[in-house]
Amino acid sequence: MNYRNNNLYVENVSVQKIIKKFGTPSYCYSLNKIKSNIRNYKKNFRSINPLLCFAVKSNSNIQILKEIKKMGVGADVVSKGELLLSLKAGINSKKIVFSGVGKSQDEIKFAINKNILLINAESESEIDLIEKIAKVKNKKINIGIRLNPNIDSKSIRKISTGNRDDKFGLTEKNFLKIIKKYKSSNNLNIKCLSVHIGSQITSYKPYEKMLKVISSVIKKSNYNFDFIDLGGGIGIKYNNDTKIFNYYKYNSIIKKFLTDHKSKIIFEPGRSIIGDAALLLTKVIYIKKTNKINFVILDAAMNDFMRPALYGAVHKIISINKNKKIIKKNHEFVGPICETTDKFLSISKFQTLNEGDCLAICDVGAYGMVLSSNYNLRTKPPEILINNSLSKVIKKRQKLINII
Ligand SMILES: *Cc1c(COP(=O)(O)O)cnc(C)c1O
Repeated sequence: MNYRNNNLYVENVSVQKIIKKFGTPSYCYSLNKIKSNIRNYKKNFRSINPLLCFAVKSNSNIQILKEIKKMGVGADVVSKGELLLSLKAGINSKKIVFSGVGKSQDEIKFAINKNILLINAESESEIDLIEKIAKVKNKKINIGIRLNPNIDSKSIRKISTGNRDDKFGLTEKNFLKIIKKYKSSNNLNIKCLSVHIGSQITSYKPYEKMLKVISSVIKKSNYNFDFIDLGGGIGIKYNNDTKIFNYYKYNSIIKKFLTDHKSKIIFEPGRSIIGDAALLLTKVIYIKKTNKINFVILDAAMNDFMRPALYGAVHKIISINKNKKIIKKNHEFVGPICETTDKFLSISKFQTLNEGDCLAICDVGAYGMVLSSNYNLRTKPPEILINNSLSKVIKKRQKLINII
């Protein structure tokens, strides 16, 4: 994304043109940004040669999955739907891991039938159930066991997952108990230790602590894991206050870890692959001024993009036609939905704006479209993929007739 003569472009296509063609609100992705994010990820971890499994829950557009697959990336799925979609996108089942605290019996059976790489289980009951199903099918199933390393990931509390009191994973004690119980099972092959401590993590330090915990648990278990699945969670730069994640440090502490433990590393990145590769394009419907605040009422709302309302996430908003006349007054960018939390951003200054102007909400590629809903009976926006000078609709705008 770049400005040319103060006009915003995605790759070689002007956003003005995209809006003219496809309307607002709409999600607009840059294919080459997705590709360069994957290339950078691979480059940063080249020395440990990990298996990358894209976290499909962060973005489940099948055209995007197909592009990601072309780059040799697998999938981390959390439901039968995501598993089906990943297979439909052509992702090899031997590059698919299935995570989640509450897989149903139907989902487990489906995953077993599809011979995926790993079912990452998170409770003793789930593991008992997998074993039972495997016995009936007379199969030996590859599983991972998710450890809760009791780490504070120092991210937004609502997207942390590795605390003792979070619902995810097994405590060290229960983890070790399960290894003992099933290490010589005829129907379960414990292949992997998995963790995932949270999302939008901007420092390597929580990961460093996590690796220490994993190391100690492996030693106590006296068991050899073929895979160590370190989950996802690497943060991206949403605004100028965000620290840039130090990939170099993370890679080197993993390398050190691997001198003691000979396992293949799996990563499940979502946000760091797709997060900064999309804009949500929107139009200013009205500007309502009070003494203190200019309410900029947009045609996009929390049903289109929920992260600010759901987690208090801060996303930059930029104009598609830049000007230099700055108005120093509080601006609140809000949507039309009947909820006070239907607000994208409060900011103390912005360039002069008129009704009908178009804006872009930045970095909406991850946990954007996937969290959209029909709340207030609004239709979902389309998704458009830009590749150099080409723009292609990869999901059509929902029609009212199809939801009424
Ligand atoms: C959500 C999730 C991910 C992806 O997290 P990002 O922060 O998007 O990288 C990976 N693994 C598991 C188990 C998850 O729940």
